[in-house]
Amino acid sequence: MEEHIRDSALDTSANHDAAAITVARGDGIGREIMEQTLRLLDAAGARLRIEEIRVGAALYQAGHSSGIAPEAWETLRRNPVLLKAPITTPQGGGYKSLNVTIRKTLGLYANVRPVRAFAPFVPSAHPAMDLIIVRENEEDLYAGIEHQQTAEVVQCLKLVSRPGCERLIRYAFELARRAGRRKVTCMTKDNIMKLSDGLFHRVFDEVAAEYPELQSDHAIIDIGAARLAASPERFDVVVTLNLYGDILSDIVAEIAGSVGLGGSANVGDRVAMFEAIHGSAPDIAGQGKANPAGLMQAAGLMLTHLGQAEIAGRMGNALLRTLEDGIHTADLGHSSHTTRRVGTEAFTDAVIARLGASPRSLAPFPPGDNRGPVRVRTQALAKPKKQLVGVDVFLDWDASDRQANVLGEALQAVAGDSFQLKMISNRGVKVYPGGFPETFCTDHWRCRFVSRAASVSKDGDAMLQSQPLAREQIPELLMRIAAAGFDCIKTEHLYEFDGTRAYSLGQGE
Ligand code: ATP
Repeated sequence: MEEHIRDSALDTSANHDAAAITVARGDGIGREIMEQTLRLLDAAGARLRIEEIRVGAALYQAGHSSGIAPEAWETLRRNPVLLKAPITTPQGGGYKSLNVTIRKTLGLYANVRPVRAFAPFVPSAHPAMDLIIVRENEEDLYAGIEHQQTAEVVQCLKLVSRPGCERLIRYAFELARRAGRRKVTCMTKDNIMKLSDGLFHRVFDEVAAEYPELQSDHAIIDIGAARLAASPERFDVVVTLNLYGDILSDIVAEIAGSVGLGGSANVGDRVAMFEAIHGSAPDIAGQGKANPAGLMQAAGLMLTHLGQAEIAGRMGNALLRTLEDGIHTADLGHSSHTTRRVGTEAFTDAVIARLGASPRSLAPFPPGDNRGPVRVRTQALAKPKKQLVGVDVFLDWDASDRQANVLGEALQAVAGDSFQLKMISNRGVKVYPGGFPETFCTDHWRCRFVSRAASVSKDGDAMLQSQPLAREQIPELLMRIAAAGFDCIKTEHLYEFDGTRAYSLGQGE
């Protein structure tokens, strides 16, 4: 059974401006670093009312497939913030990621990961790096919509929505403005995915125009990631889609110097989750040597989100001063600046002793912005006029030596009066009409039927124009295709929105 525990450490019931937060202590080193982070929050004067939930290994073992009991959701939904220590997800099938479950259930659409080097005190190949990755958290290939459609082919759907792009990109620009950043860089692969990544890029350009004081630019993700890894100091705020952001976040955390130092936020409209970027590190659990700085940084992000940025700044600057004074946990590697190797608790003692101090050479945390959560609004768009102009019919076909011409001729015969078979492609490469025998073909064929052009008269001149299709014409076509003995595995309708083609052309089309 899930248990809700009230922790009175920071609970000052007389303190009416205290923010209600949910705390999850996690597994492995999670419990140790959370204990110390709560001590620091208390000592720094954070105004918090804490409600605890249990998540992680014990809950998985008790049969909760996502590592959380149903009762805990009420607490999570009631409080605006969750501070979460790392948990251990058991190996093997049947277990779902707690993080993914929380993110999706609570609509935490933005993953924010600030990464900064602390050189020379923590060795880093990129001493000047100080950037924030803002990653879309709900869409893209992570919708988890996958199907096997033929013996040879599986697919994963990449879904990108305009409101999803817009609120994330607005969040990135608002955050950049509040945090005194100078530039926002968008990364996509819109030279290939012109509609999905193209939408993200287009919305970025639209939103960027509303922030003239911030520079903005775009990089194709491959070269962008390479540049980020080679010279991260050239970047400031980077905003990108889910999968690319996942990869970029790990690249930058790795090159910053230590996985033990980073915190991140997952932000939604009503609830936000703050956590360290590292895992539960079972190899060093229970030994008192884990670095609590990552969770402390996450706690700082949380305080800023809650409108207690001055306290976040105090904590952050004390942390910087501790690192400068050479008080280091074992994970930070060998630095000539290390004066004392300490464990989790002694490190926290040192940070607490430095509350109120500023770093001597590292750039201090900027003065806090106490406005609280960054809230964004998306703009309602006028509904475009949508017109059905064709259909891509996908077939599982493994006959006649997979000769596209044979398939093409058979399908021409069933196209009927309203459709014309425009082309057939295999894995995106056009193979009919005019295919090449060298093209490797699988058993998965996309057959594009478009509405037959009709002769219309415009200004006295006769011209050909595509005819809009009625919805029921598609199933009628499918019935003819099935009657001819073909196995249709899926369809995608072809639309024009406000007269503009809204589907990709096949390669070679
Ligand atoms: P997961 O696989 O869930 O990410 P993990 O803890 O094994 O969990 P990482 O977070 O990548 O993976 O950590 C890798 C190693 O780095 C750990 O096994 C541990 O030795 C070290 N490490 C991670 N975080 C810390 C920390 N806060 N303090 C000290 N060492 C750490």
